[in-house]
Amino acid sequence: MSVELPEVAWIGLGIMGSPMSENLIRAGYDVTGHTLEQEKTDRLVAAGGTGAGSVAEAVREADVVITMLPASPQVEAVAYGPGGILENARPGTLLIDMSSITPQTSVDLARNAREKGIRVLDAPVSGGEAGAVEAVLSIMVGGERSDFESARPVFQALGKTIVLCGPHGSGQTVKAANQLIVAVNIQACAEAVVFLEKSGVDLAAALDVLGGGLAGSTVLARKKDNFLKRDFAPGFRIDLHHKDMGIVTDAARTVGAALPAGAVVAQLIASLRAQGDGGLDHSALLRSVERLSGQPVRA
Ligand code: NAD
Repeated sequence: MSVELPEVAWIGLGIMGSPMSENLIRAGYDVTGHTLEQEKTDRLVAAGGTGAGSVAEAVREADVVITMLPASPQVEAVAYGPGGILENARPGTLLIDMSSITPQTSVDLARNAREKGIRVLDAPVSGGEAGAVEAVLSIMVGGERSDFESARPVFQALGKTIVLCGPHGSGQTVKAANQLIVAVNIQACAEAVVFLEKSGVDLAAALDVLGGGLAGSTVLARKKDNFLKRDFAPGFRIDLHHKDMGIVTDAARTVGAALPAGAVVAQLIASLRAQGDGGLDHSALLRSVERLSGQPVRA
């Protein structure tokens, strides 16, 4: 129990939200959590947090409310819905939405919350499940500088690279660019894997040496074992990356930016989903290259 740290409500305890909220508890925060699956609430309680049966119950006494939800519709439901955050949080509460959603949803949320005296930051993250567990996430923030400064200690318990990118929605725009880079990078790695295997090269040796040169990347380092073992347990689900490719292609169209490589990879991700692979990790882009190359799909 701490007197000086803000009381935190955490909504959305999934692959990311669970380890992130546990890092806050480890840093000394009192965290009250709500999510749809009872076993994930139980996990928070086992880690020293408090379970709440509803959004309203979770946020009522909170100084800071953090949401880590799949996409814009869930954020809107939790924020605006009956029993939602805007209806139940106290004026002065800081709402930090760490989900990856459309920049426009973040802008609208900040405006609507202001009418209730609630301050908002969009603060999506990059670094994946491993980055969440290790508290080394990159956190890209949009909103007012004073709110960013007051949230900094919370961010420091969750991540390592913490940057205010600009006004409301800017964090989401940067996150959309992040997802474009990650998708195209995974696709390039997947194509290299199939090319190397068809050429009869030792794949593990090849990926090791590639990782040390200009072709190396965090994507290659983090996903190498997924490729080698054909282990596509999520991680980051294809379904969520499909959502993010929609966000970045829409946003780019709005500002008149062409994303030719991104558009192709967006289609390949859509195709994986259509073939029933939406629940797999995004490293499963390898399966689509295998199919295109007439290679038997392993796993
Ligand atoms: P997830 O599907 O594992 O978790 C989402 C959680 O939200 C679930 O536990 C679900 O119960 C909860 N939820 C949904 N609707 C709710 C509601 N109405 N009320 C309360 N809880 C609700 O997703 P995730 O992988 O943790 O991703 C969360 C967000 O973070 C997404 O926007 C994703 O794009 C982004 N993200 C994910 C990763 C990753 O590697 N998984 C990395 C960076 C960013």
